[in-house]
Amino acid sequence: MSAKDWVEKDYYATLGVQKSASSDEIKKSYRKLARESHPDHNPGDPKAEERFKAVSEAYAVLGDETKRREYDEMRSLFGSGAFRRNARGAGGPGGQPFDVSDLFGGAAGGGRFGGGGGFQDLFSSMFSGGGGGGPARPRGPARGRDVETEVALDFGDAVRGVTLPLTLRAPGVCDTCHGNGAKPGTQPATCPACHGAGTTTRNQGAFSFSEPCRNCQGVGTVVVEKCPECQGTGGVTKTRTLNVRFPAGVADGQRIRLAGRGEPGERGGPAGDLFVHVKVRPDELFGRTGDDLTLTVPITFPEAVLGTDLRVPTLDGAVTLRVPPGTPSGRVLRARGKGVVRRDGRAGDLLVTLDVVVPARVSDEARAALEAFAEQTPPAGREHLDARVRRIS
Ligand SMILES: [Zn+2]
Ligand SMILES: [Zn+2]
Repeated sequence: MSAKDWVEKDYYATLGVQKSASSDEIKKSYRKLARESHPDHNPGDPKAEERFKAVSEAYAVLGDETKRREYDEMRSLFGSGAFRRNARGAGGPGGQPFDVSDLFGGAAGGGRFGGGGGFQDLFSSMFSGGGGGGPARPRGPARGRDVETEVALDFGDAVRGVTLPLTLRAPGVCDTCHGNGAKPGTQPATCPACHGAGTTTRNQGAFSFSEPCRNCQGVGTVVVEKCPECQGTGGVTKTRTLNVRFPAGVADGQRIRLAGRGEPGERGGPAGDLFVHVKVRPDELFGRTGDDLTLTVPITFPEAVLGTDLRVPTLDGAVTLRVPPGTPSGRVLRARGKGVVRRDGRAGDLLVTLDVVVPARVSDEARAALEAFAEQTPPAGREHLDARVRRIS
């Protein structure tokens, strides 16, 4: 038994059962067919003998749960749209060993099923299971692939922490047709162009070339009645939704790892991990530096000079900040504990930067008042600059 056998032979059809048949149904059908075609009952009938062999071969695979699963996987990949589109250089001239590595190179690059890992693993398992001509690698559980995704969080959600449903899309095998692309109850037919070989021969002068059949893209079968679910491609986009908890204080650019939430493993292997890249949407008021939130508050010159109490917003509720008399522009006031609450329960601060606003225009009364003010005001304190100016001019 080889990979080629598994790709080419429809054991379900041989046993006359549906793909969904239970192991009991398979066993029952096998017994009936084996009895009918048994050489003892059909002495001297080579057709019956061939039939008996085929039925036995089919049952050797379908009658074994593990082999049956591998066979299904193999055929779903080969019958799928990915394979159909990507198979290039499939197979050698008739009767030559099937060039599996070429198939794989083509299919893995196409990416319907993601990286090449799944294919390679499946193949090594086929080979070690079937004793075919390929490199026998130890067959064992394979870890599922890691999945990366990105999510955009609102500023406040990132600060407080939030649980969001995350919908992930991944290519998968169509459940309706198990990837062979055929409408349930039907089977892909043997390709009429290559009679199932998957290759055709072209003559050019003294040479003849074998090339993948254009009609079936090297698969050897064609879908007659298309599966309504996948339109005959054998592949569908599968979605799954996870509730992901983003901890309070998650920052823009952070990557969160959710162990075991990636793609499921194969043959009992562990699932891969899910990595979520976090984008945090900026807030219209607040900025953030580490665990501190930042806010800029405009104040008037009289407020800076005379002092005032400011009501400023925080992410939850407002606080009153005292601006002492004589506060310079640019001073930073601190509202303790009004920043990002960390996991240990401690919180950063809200840093409020005061920005003294200079009015572009003032009323006549204000102008008069300012001129009076100016006369009473001590110099700004730039004597050292004036000294330098005098020296260099
Ligand atoms: Zn389908
Ligand atoms: Zn063909």
